[in-house]
Amino acid sequence: MSDKRIAIIGAGIGGVAAGVALHQAGFDVRIFEKAGELREAGAGMSLWPNGTGVLQQLGLLPAVASRGQGGAQFLVRSQAGDILMAIRTAEAETPTICIHRAHLLRILADALPPRCLSVGHDLASVHFTGTKVDLQFTHGERIPCDGVVGADGIHSQIRIDLAYPNKPVYRGYAIFRGIVDTPANFSPGHNSETWGEGSRFGILSIGSNKLCWYATVNSPARPLRTDWPKERLQQIFSKWHHPIPELLAATEPSDIMLNGACDQYPARAWSNGPITLMGDASHALTPNLGQGACMALEDALALANCLRQKTSVSEGFRLYEAKRFARVRNAILRSRWLGEIGQWENRALVKVRTAVTRILPGRLFECHSTSAQLMALLGGHLQESTEA
Ligand SMILES: Cc1cc2nc3c(=O)[nH]c(=O)nc-3n(C[C@H](O)[C@H](O)[C@H](O)COP(=O)(O)OP(=O)(O)OC[C@H]3O[C@@H](n4cnc5c(N)ncnc54)[C@H](O)[C@@H]3O)c2cc1C
Repeated sequence: MSDKRIAIIGAGIGGVAAGVALHQAGFDVRIFEKAGELREAGAGMSLWPNGTGVLQQLGLLPAVASRGQGGAQFLVRSQAGDILMAIRTAEAETPTICIHRAHLLRILADALPPRCLSVGHDLASVHFTGTKVDLQFTHGERIPCDGVVGADGIHSQIRIDLAYPNKPVYRGYAIFRGIVDTPANFSPGHNSETWGEGSRFGILSIGSNKLCWYATVNSPARPLRTDWPKERLQQIFSKWHHPIPELLAATEPSDIMLNGACDQYPARAWSNGPITLMGDASHALTPNLGQGACMALEDALALANCLRQKTSVSEGFRLYEAKRFARVRNAILRSRWLGEIGQWENRALVKVRTAVTRILPGRLFECHSTSAQLMALLGGHLQESTEA
């Protein structure tokens, strides 16, 4: 079935990774992106061992490791700077890497075959009869294919067209992000999250002497940029430990990104015949575990493996969603739960949380699964998959 033509809608991290995996599995794959150029948000991200395990399978881990920054541990700190927990990441089979999103996307895109990616293609609708699919773009072009993967993000149009029952839900807090030069007295490879009352502040070393920071603040209504000038953030974090106030001061207000924390509980079935979804389109996570893109990378490998194992695209998509449902549901729920606890603002509850975090061993949060276990979850190595 590798003669089948698979179209991917959306060239975010998920869509491009799926393009690489499907190409390596021997499929004729094309990616259509509505933006006029390949782009990612100006922010950093963490890739945990499951995400880097997928990149290793795709042969891209060395490039990602050399562009990003590996970290040996992730610290949870109090507002005063005390270390409450140290989660070791160095023992996992593949590293934890923090990287600028644009660098990761570039590395993935460079692994695509020539002419695979078409930008300036805004999908208007998808029609299918039997096993054939027709893509209709807003500029009038129609493209036939044998299967479609909707990697069109949290506001996915394909998800709406599929009448998917679940929608993204706002979880009550705002997330701000920025990138700054690493301060002179700051050790490279430092990754941490500091917990306060109704707010958190994270610092990720993303390589090239840069830090990405993120801040979360409770906001019952969806946050609007006009309500959140930089000064308001600076006020909230003014008494937090070094270098938090300095990082905020060093960021240009126009460079600060703002998102509302949202997630989307996955439906048990998210495919319809030769059309499926992946990444944020089918199962967006709140960012508390740093797992949204890692799950999209896992989807990419699982998709390629499942399509190789089945004789029709529809059967491959059904196998893929069946393999992914429990895994992504658990990640969504764990991430939501961590965000709820992390955003507590009641002083007594925060004291209890601090005391418990101090005594909990960091290894409870470490990644103990091996690459072999991950590959078993995702249907094996691409090279080992058998075509039916
Ligand atoms: C604040 C924050 C921090 C995060 N931190 C991390 C982290 O540290 N680690 C991690 O693993 N994850 C993290 N995530 C999650 C991660 O960013 C997402 O899960 C991931 O980027 C989703 O990728 P995607 O390819 O599914 O969707 P997207 O990146 O949203 O890509 C969708 C693409 O589809 C295109 N598109 C949309 N509609 C159409 C159309 N009609 N036609 C053609 N193209 C279309 C869009 O232009 C876009 O390029 C974070 C998320 C947030 C909000």
